[in-house]
Amino acid sequence: MAKKIGELLKEKGYVTDEMFTVAYAQQRITGQLIGEALQQLGFVTSIEMAKVLSEQTGIPYINIRDIDIPKEILQLITRDVAESLECLPIGKENGRLNVGVVNPANVLSIDRITKLTGMPVNMLIVDSDSFKEAVERVYYFLENPILSMLEETIGHMVKTVGADPNLISKLTELILQDGVRREATDIHITPESNAMHVFYRVDGVLQYGHCIPKASQAGITSKIKIMASIDIAEQRLPQDGFFNYTFLRKKYDIRVSTIPTIFGENIVLRLLSGSGTLFRFDSLGYEKDEVNKLEKVFHKPFGILLVTGPTGSGKTTTLYAALRQLKLLEKNVITVEDPVEYRLSFVRQTQVNTKSGYNFTLAARNFMRQDPDVMLIGEIRDEETASIAIRASITGHLVLSTLHTNDAVGAIPRLLDLGVEKYNVTAVLVGVIAQRLVRKICPACKAKYELTDSDNKYLADIGYTIKASNIYYGKGCELCFDTGFLGRLAVGEVLVLDDELKELINEGASVIKIKHVAVEKGMRTMLENALIKLEAGVTSLHEIQRVLG
Ligand SMILES: [Zn+2]
Repeated sequence: MAKKIGELLKEKGYVTDEMFTVAYAQQRITGQLIGEALQQLGFVTSIEMAKVLSEQTGIPYINIRDIDIPKEILQLITRDVAESLECLPIGKENGRLNVGVVNPANVLSIDRITKLTGMPVNMLIVDSDSFKEAVERVYYFLENPILSMLEETIGHMVKTVGADPNLISKLTELILQDGVRREATDIHITPESNAMHVFYRVDGVLQYGHCIPKASQAGITSKIKIMASIDIAEQRLPQDGFFNYTFLRKKYDIRVSTIPTIFGENIVLRLLSGSGTLFRFDSLGYEKDEVNKLEKVFHKPFGILLVTGPTGSGKTTTLYAALRQLKLLEKNVITVEDPVEYRLSFVRQTQVNTKSGYNFTLAARNFMRQDPDVMLIGEIRDEETASIAIRASITGHLVLSTLHTNDAVGAIPRLLDLGVEKYNVTAVLVGVIAQRLVRKICPACKAKYELTDSDNKYLADIGYTIKASNIYYGKGCELCFDTGFLGRLAVGEVLVLDDELKELINEGASVIKIKHVAVEKGMRTMLENALIKLEAGVTSLHEIQRVLG
């Protein structure tokens, strides 16, 4: 007898009785389904729901984002039908049609698909959020082949001398749409001597996009500056602004920055959607033993926990995975972020506003009056914020924050630099997580990889012997824009401070010494964790070298 979804969710530790109480209370007001309420309250994500549903029904779960759906398969049913039946054809296998379904109990939908396509159907469970997004995306780009539209527009520009405002508007819109299609975090529009070039940053790496005629440079630049409320007359100084952009029913907050280069203004657009997917530690990429460590440190009642790494290393994502571990219904969790990248119910989220003067320091100073249990301070940048964080943790609060350091141990000298006394570091610092993101090999073009001599030399130099022979790489395909990678995962190191390590800090031991002892006591370094992912065939050796050196 299959278990009820609710029971499974509880068994997995995703949802507690208190959460159900709140979800039922909200359901009475809003009329939502209980599953919807649980998701909307952030207690469980749609991916987690889908996986539980898969476990309950025995129907495999599939991540719809990992599939390059062939055009002819997509054309088997229309967008309207896909949307209303909550089914999406994703591929053919042994004469059967693979169909992603949100609700496998909906047999009538499956019947309809079989009738419409004349093919027997193989069900696979997809999660509702990805399904909605996928339907929007795949049908939109099926009807609007963006690359050929871009080529066509640029072609017209080459032919028209001067700048046609309609073409400029169209091209700007297409560049933004292509950014969304590639899931870029940033779009770079870079002037050179003879032309302008567009690049997209995807999964941390720049991808070349398009080439725009020089004659359109002024038009494109002005267009974007106007959208972002930036002074178009000023071309010799860096400027910044922002605008809102809605595409495929999703809202983006686009931050624009310009700098004057020798060939004109270089423009970078940062795309923020404010609706990142929430993860748990294991789905971020942490190994089981590391997850146990992380859960332990984040359950400390007070102290400081730091996540370190360069910009774009997923620090916020990890902090949010940590917040989800906390008993949010029993604790007052308050945050200041720049900007808010995730929304989580029952977390009092605030956002830095430079214009009004609301910054990390001001927020931290005022949080104490908000009766907090847990404070998330987006970043500790200066002495005042550091001292407020220390004071808060000494007085019995849990403070979560980030720092820019290369590794976990590096957080210790950084805190000392910020004026924190050694005895305060040892009194309140509970742990440090250093983290990087490595790209995952694209599942659609994954292939075996033979280690070369120089690879073997690299591994020998770092003193590592590969235990498994299944090393892979991505050959490159349409799904991954020929990069060989799709999505990223976190590789980190978790430093938990025990008495011996604290004593070393008090004695003023060097970071090398502290790290050495930490490793001796079982801390796995970022590199070691990355190599575990290599041996598991999840990432490639060159990717590890790119990220970790
Ligand atoms: Zn690929």
